[in-house]
Amino acid sequence: METDRVLGVSPSYIYFPISLRRVLQQKEGGKVNQDCIFCRIIAGEIESDILYQDDEVFAIRDIRPQAPTHLLIITKIHIPSLVEVNAEQKGLLGHMIHVANELAREQGVAESGYRLVVNTGPHSGQLVAHLHLHLLGGRILGRLG
Ligand code: AMP
Ligand code: ZN
Repeated sequence: METDRVLGVSPSYIYFPISLRRVLQQKEGGKVNQDCIFCRIIAGEIESDILYQDDEVFAIRDIRPQAPTHLLIITKIHIPSLVEVNAEQKGLLGHMIHVANELAREQGVAESGYRLVVNTGPHSGQLVAHLHLHLLGGRILGRLG
């Protein structure tokens, strides 16, 4: 488990002024995607407390937590949303869930229970167009569906 000490981030970064359509059109390009807050965090351009990272993913605390434990497991490559994961990348999804499970244990919510959420597209309310998994726990979350 690698820990990087980083600074906070201005809330103005959260809802960066770019249309979802434009973000969804962006593809991974080798250089830092300046319009993507998660790409800029990975690149070290925006500081954030990285709780975990490996070659494929990293995890941070959500800046606006919806539960006592609210982590984001984020891919290191820029994939705009779950629906854009291709066949070659499908292993990444299992890895994200595996990392989330490990973090749930580490955060002490594995026994009490937790929820993994991937918002995908406009109707889901997806705010950041870079694939990420929410890990929510530490309280009764209420029923879904
Ligand atoms: P989603 O609606 O699934 O796209 O979720 C995006 C999440 O990213 C939201 O819950 C935001 O609170 C969170 N978020 C946005 N900017 C940051 C940031 N700089 N650090 C941590 N979390 C962030
Ligand atoms: Zn990105």
